[in-house]
Amino acid sequence: MPLQNQSAKLKQLFSKRVTNQARIVLDSYQKCKEANWEDQDRLSNLSSAAEKLKHSAERFEMQEQHEIANKITSLLKLISSSSPSSESISTLDTFIQELNEQTLRKSDLADDTSTALSSGPRTFLRTPVYIAINNKEFANRIISQLDFFGFRSISFEKADNLIAASQQNKPETVVMDIDFGNEKMSGFEAAEALQAKHETPVPIIYLSSERDDIQTRLRASRSGGEEFFYPTVDPGQLIEKIERYTHASPQEPYRVLVVDDSQSQARYIDTVLKKAGMHPLTITDPMKVLLALEEFHPEIIIMDMYMPGCTGMELARVIRQQDKFHSVPIIYLSAEDDLNKQLHAMSQGGDDFLTKPIDPKHLTSTIHNRGRRARSLLALMIRDSLTGLYNHTHTLHLLEQEVTKAQDKEQPLSFVMLDLDHFKKVNDTYGHPMGDRVIKSLALFLKQRLRKTDHIGRYGGEEFAVVLPNTSEGDAKTIMSEIRERFSTLPQPCGDTSFCVSFSCGIATYEKGKLEANAKQMCEKADQALYQAKHDGRNTVRSYINDLLQ
Ligand code: GH3
Ligand code: MG
Ligand code: MG
Repeated sequence: MPLQNQSAKLKQLFSKRVTNQARIVLDSYQKCKEANWEDQDRLSNLSSAAEKLKHSAERFEMQEQHEIANKITSLLKLISSSSPSSESISTLDTFIQELNEQTLRKSDLADDTSTALSSGPRTFLRTPVYIAINNKEFANRIISQLDFFGFRSISFEKADNLIAASQQNKPETVVMDIDFGNEKMSGFEAAEALQAKHETPVPIIYLSSERDDIQTRLRASRSGGEEFFYPTVDPGQLIEKIERYTHASPQEPYRVLVVDDSQSQARYIDTVLKKAGMHPLTITDPMKVLLALEEFHPEIIIMDMYMPGCTGMELARVIRQQDKFHSVPIIYLSAEDDLNKQLHAMSQGGDDFLTKPIDPKHLTSTIHNRGRRARSLLALMIRDSLTGLYNHTHTLHLLEQEVTKAQDKEQPLSFVMLDLDHFKKVNDTYGHPMGDRVIKSLALFLKQRLRKTDHIGRYGGEEFAVVLPNTSEGDAKTIMSEIRERFSTLPQPCGDTSFCVSFSCGIATYEKGKLEANAKQMCEKADQALYQAKHDGRNTVRSYINDLLQ
């Protein structure tokens, strides 16, 4: 090999090493974030990953990476001893964002075995979706669909490359032909090799065109198969599944209120819960419970049975008297092992009983189970089953809450109503199930493109509503126009063809001195603006103050 070539190859190899280390930093950062910056082990992992990055970037003379790693390590040194302040976290966020951009750029350039597409909105820190599909044309269709929704994906042609890439950068999900590599069952072999490199399994979505027998399905499931499509799959359906397994909407930590008069017991539980990635609030004075409920909105309450001033049972009854806390699970803690007393306590509104001394594993798994059930029950009440978005009632409830907040904080607040254009025709031409898929695709599109603090609801059939806190009318119009434009060019896959659907949009904004802070009025005005948008030819956005009042 000529010397020049060799040195280029080496350079590429070094750059890959640094990129990998940068990914480890990004992953460790994400883990700290998930634990609310309260897990010391995770923090020290992040520090040592950043140190390593600094050294390898320096060694391989990669100036940009070295500079950013240096900034990160210096900042981490300042904050490693205690819980970081929000100010230092936000500085760190900026550095990490910079590193993320650098890393994405680098990996896209360096990876010559794959087709990495540009990242869309809200792709920050997201690892790619790996596509291992024999049919190139189909793979490209999936990639361009994913790109529309803001997912980054990489397609592979060879199992070896897929396995090597997965080892370096664990994918959030893999879409895989069961015979990827064009040999019978070779996809399973690749999946098994890939899983062997990771402690927790990578979710795999299998595609199978020929086999659907129980042995095949078992092997799929044993090698991490979460989904199995046979004999064909619609790209739209596939995107929905990918969204489920990628952490597009990461799980928020459970908010747990701990009421225990014993300082040491309370501290112990607090530590156990934080270690498990939960978000506890501990109070040792049971008389403060009402205030904590109002401000903290716990999803689960853990309560000592015997406290000064009142018993846990009495407190549970008071809590249960308020409708909004009626279904929050209450778990009692006590040294009591008299079964009759336990049963009596449960009849007073408790859901579970844990006997002291408390086993940390038992505690966290009880909370997980109760929390999961509580969340799914709540979801039934406030979410729409087709799209997973907030339902009409809850959207209005959120709008009312945000109106109050906007008034208090003297910030603008925008309310947006969207309605799909000529949707009846979509149903008539392509069928109702296809219509449903379009509704779901708009739901996902909005989720991917709006901020985490925005509230998205399905207002009715093919109507949606979005609450945008701290957003002026002009900004809301810019954001919604951009989304409208992108969505109207999104190919809605239908068999071998595709079609496009647009929506119209009306905006009303509360801004001091312009529009009254009143949810009902905002709905009416947004509806009028939407009507105007329809009247003006559809596939457009109108805002109440600027377009209707002027
Ligand atoms: P416009 O541009 O004026 O909004 O025309 P449009 O056809 O969208 O409006 P119209 O109100 O006449 O029709 C709405 C259609 O949406 C009729 C209804 O069958 C369909 N629709 C409502 N909810 C659903 C749903 O959940 N799934 C499906 N597939 N279609 C729905
Ligand atoms: Mg309508
Ligand atoms: Mg419509």
